Amino acid sequence: MTLQHTDVLIVGGGVVGLCIAYQLLERGMTRSITLLDKESELGRHSSGRNSGVLHAGLYYKPGSVKAQVCVAGARRLKAWVEERGLLINPCGKVIVPPRPDLDSQLNVLAERGRANGAVVEILDEKQLRQLIPEARSASGRALWSPNTAVVKPIEVVQRLKLELKERGVHILTAQQGWTARPEQQQLILADGTALHYGHLFNCAGLHADRVARPFSVGLEFTLLPFKGLYWQLKKDSPIQPRCNLYPVPDLDVPFLGVHFTPSADSVAVVSIGPTATLAWGRENYRGLQAVEPGMTASSLGVLARQYLANRGSFRRYVHEQAFLALPPLLLRAARQLIPTIRAEHLELSSKVGIRSQLFNHNTQSLEDDFICLNGQASTHVLNAISPAFTASFALADLILDTASSWMNLS
Ligand SMILES: Cc1cc2nc3c(=O)[nH]c(=O)nc-3n(C[C@H](O)[C@H](O)[C@H](O)COP(=O)(O)OP(=O)(O)OC[C@H]3O[C@@H](n4cnc5c(N)ncnc54)[C@H](O)[C@@H]3O)c2cc1C
Repeated sequence: MTLQHTDVLIVGGGVVGLCIAYQLLERGMTRSITLLDKESELGRHSSGRNSGVLHAGLYYKPGSVKAQVCVAGARRLKAWVEERGLLINPCGKVIVPPRPDLDSQLNVLAERGRANGAVVEILDEKQLRQLIPEARSASGRALWSPNTAVVKPIEVVQRLKLELKERGVHILTAQQGWTARPEQQQLILADGTALHYGHLFNCAGLHADRVARPFSVGLEFTLLPFKGLYWQLKKDSPIQPRCNLYPVPDLDVPFLGVHFTPSADSVAVVSIGPTATLAWGRENYRGLQAVEPGMTASSLGVLARQYLANRGSFRRYVHEQAFLALPPLLLRAARQLIPTIRAEHLELSSKVGIRSQLFNHNTQSLEDDFICLNGQASTHVLNAISPAFTASFALADLILDTASSWMNLS
């Protein structure tokens, strides 16, 4: 058996794992870094499939990890993208209440945003119409976030990979079937190579809970995979919003509601979504190609119990969001923001993603924040849901600040 050593082993080459590698180098903590991914190409999961929105930090409860890292992370990723001349659409974002009773939530979001360091402004109806003439606010008021931008997520992943390779990070792709030996600080690869590490970072996204298990970490969590389907406005649709248009979200559930997002392409494509429907498997992106029957049965059981107990406003989520994958319901949700949208303006987008959303069996609730847990010579990044893409550089620094005091590097 070949034995190799690496100071740091990162499992998962999405944006979280890539940014940890990047910041380890930037901070001069070590140059001996191996990043391992099960896919032959990086970016096959959330980091290459998300909306690409650099969130400005409006939604997150002050004191949460999300609130700590979102604003700084967005600023850093935006600068990083601009320095490299990658595509970016600095178009801003408008949030409108689809019902009059949601108007007061605009104040909550404005307060949260300001507390988190974001720039926000309340708009009246005339100002809203100047930004998006077709948009509707049920109360006449809207919230404006000028610093929200949109990038191409796959470009970010590919560029990070390229720069890390150039700087000497070993990137091992197509690594399936490895086993962890936490006691020996080793990963045994499928070809028999034993990879000894000083510290392991588990950034395995949709599989992070599974990777954590042999380390006896995060045993209280189960993944509930929520699929996000997108539609888009046809090129010849007369309605083409130039900036992001979001509904006031239900702050009790970790989904933002179906929204309009213009892409960062030179001729922007406006997507509508993502929906938040239970996926029948961690990677079941289309149809029934990767259904996991056991997982689906247990996920449905959890959802049914949540619904019956109406925990975390669960019934509202089910009634308002769970079935938006059905085109007439999606159209209805889109019309709450732009009433003149018609079915013939829309087409299904090829984009689809699945969120790595965790359910906590101890608290019987969906986890809303990022979770970073320590195991033997290891750090496990769980529940890396939105805005982990936006926040990735700042999240990596926060993780390294915590881990560096006890990382045992050579
Ligand atoms: C539909 C959707 C829209 C979103 N929109 C936004 C947005 O607009 N803005 C935003 O900030 N965030 C958004 N997010 C969230 C964002 O995409 C994620 O938070 C972020 O990409 C998480 O990155 P990650 O590196 O943790 O996970 P991933 O990108 O999933 O990377 C995990 C990697 O681990 C690998 N892996 C898994 N298991 C193993 C294993 N056993 N061995 C080796 N490798 C393994 C996978 O192949 C994968 O490459 C969205 C998410 C979804 C699903």
